Amino acid sequence: MRRKIVAGNWKMNLSPTEAHQLFSTISNKSSNGVVKMVFPPSIYLSELLKLNSDVIIGVQNFYPIEKGAFTGEVSAKQCSDLGVTHFLVGHSERRMLFMENNAFLKQKVDAAINLGGTVVFCCGEPLEVREKGDEFRFVREQLEESLFHLDANDIKNCIIAYEPVWAIGTGRTATNEQAEAMHAEIRSSIAKQYTPEIAEQISILYGGSCNASNAKELFACPNVDGGLIGGAALVATSFLEIVDAFEQ
Ligand code: PEP
Repeated sequence: MRRKIVAGNWKMNLSPTEAHQLFSTISNKSSNGVVKMVFPPSIYLSELLKLNSDVIIGVQNFYPIEKGAFTGEVSAKQCSDLGVTHFLVGHSERRMLFMENNAFLKQKVDAAINLGGTVVFCCGEPLEVREKGDEFRFVREQLEESLFHLDANDIKNCIIAYEPVWAIGTGRTATNEQAEAMHAEIRSSIAKQYTPEIAEQISILYGGSCNASNAKELFACPNVDGGLIGGAALVATSFLEIVDAFEQ
């Protein structure tokens, strides 16, 4: 069964007090079976994990090697030992600003999966690729090079987030048709690589200027199982409105 998920990517935002307040406000509110998830800045993980909450906590970034001389990095193992279960991999900001390529992302996927974690794997094309009409091939390649080496059991521990780069933080959302077409293509790639049954079990989220005003239409698309939300997840009321956007 595909789960309905609304995940907030807090990026490098919020003070400790604001993070605590936002997390407490979105916790333990009825969500009609929709899974709530957040990716806070990693320095807040430890404190937030101690709170009584129905919100899943994931890490935005981590290093795939277990331990060693990697000044400033935090390992997947350290996050897992802390109680983190969900690992964001492949966000376009990590790809573009921190030069994380498909081969490195594959290592991150393996590190998280080998610890029994769930990977939220982001993929999506830049504007120039869409303008050339090459977006399906581009996204398929991202999946093939970083994710599709997993076996049938492990791929079930992945959630995919389709985030067209031109829609992230720009206020320019993909149309419902554009989102649905790509989500259907991703599901069909999973079905071909694994089985149609497995493809039916994997949640595929949309991300890119998704907010309380457009979430309802996007989430009504047959292959859209929820959203990975940036800016609109930083305000509790707006995050909760997006959670409520699913047709019940
Ligand atoms: C994101 O960064 O994953 C994202 C979708 O951002 P925004 O919602 O702000 O476009």
